[in-house]
Amino acid sequence: SGAAWDRRVHSSAFSFTGRTVLVTGAAGFVGSHAAVALKRRGDGVLGLDNFNRYYDIELKRSRENLLTRAGVFTVHGDINDAVLLNKLFDMVHFTHVLHLAAQAGVRYAMKNPNSYIHSNIAGLVALLEACKSADPQPAVIWASSSSVYGLNSKVPFSERDRTDSPASLYAATKKAGEEIAHSYNHIHGLSITGLRFFTVYGPWGRPDMAYFFFARDILKGKAITIYEGPNHRTVARDFTYIDDVVKGCLSALDTAKKSTGSGGKKRGEAQFRIYNLGNKLPVSVGEIVNILERLLKVKAKRKVVQMPRNGDVLFTHANITLAHKELGYKPTVDIESGLNKFVKWFLSYYGVKKRRFW
Ligand code: NAD
Repeated sequence: SGAAWDRRVHSSAFSFTGRTVLVTGAAGFVGSHAAVALKRRGDGVLGLDNFNRYYDIELKRSRENLLTRAGVFTVHGDINDAVLLNKLFDMVHFTHVLHLAAQAGVRYAMKNPNSYIHSNIAGLVALLEACKSADPQPAVIWASSSSVYGLNSKVPFSERDRTDSPASLYAATKKAGEEIAHSYNHIHGLSITGLRFFTVYGPWGRPDMAYFFFARDILKGKAITIYEGPNHRTVARDFTYIDDVVKGCLSALDTAKKSTGSGGKKRGEAQFRIYNLGNKLPVSVGEIVNILERLLKVKAKRKVVQMPRNGDVLFTHANITLAHKELGYKPTVDIESGLNKFVKWFLSYYGVKKRRFW
């Protein structure tokens, strides 16, 4: 920090619309897209990210460059840093916090459980504490996950379904996050909207996700492992294109009620809402490989094996009626055209520039 840093924070948070948004996880996949979209429409936006090394740090730096070009400054810091958070909330009167920083991925939890506790539990609490103490209090819109539906759910998943059987520590921390956020709504009058994302994909995506490393492995001629369930059951995901998810985030932000604080006569009016942001159309992992083969014009080498118990679920499928009704959410990008956009980006980012990913 310093005078130049202060100036960057202030100019980034300058708003034409009256909305000023802190985007956590801004160097991440969804965060970078959302921050740019908010800035483009005239909102004041400040990014925050700890640039952890869960995956390719160069990709996060490249996303940060995109943000800089769009006029969004990204503060390098951790959501657990209460001093930093309080300083930012003192400097800028955020109307909203779009909280997307988290330890994502289900398999990484097998060996790195603490990372999930640090970011998804302790970090969430630190962030909500800062929001609670801020004046004015911002409305909080944050990313939960389809993984909260766990093992027992019937499909399609609806927000009213039970979420009491998490298949992974990641899912457990997202579920716990929903309960924690709810308590801050009850006690401190924070307006909270939880968005359960379903397998978000697209340009600038996450290298730890299957569609992403499938594309790499097809081009490298490396065999792809496709999981199937017991008795050859198909593994499928409700793949949701990044632009659709970002639109959902923006309308969740626009429809969020103000936080009311714990005192005064408005107490109790702050909202607590949860929405599925999916695509309503599950696609099998095998079909993803077929589409990638066509787009890359390279045949994939497939290896089909039974899914180990690693935290993955067999199937996800969103019922999006509630988000449609209350947020006007309506995904428009089908898997073919979404993957086409991903592949175009992938080839230009990695193929032409030959980065160390290869
Ligand atoms: P991502 O990993 O690309 O982005 C998360 C960003 O947060 C990263 O840049 C990381 O450096 C940052 N971060 C992590 N811990 C932090 C901390 N303690 N302090 C500050 N920054 C921190 O992931 P994404 O795909 O963009 O996911 C965004 C959110 O959506 C996450 O909460 C994730 O759990 C959730 N989600 C994503 C998907 C998906 O398919 N992409 C599905 C369901 C839920």
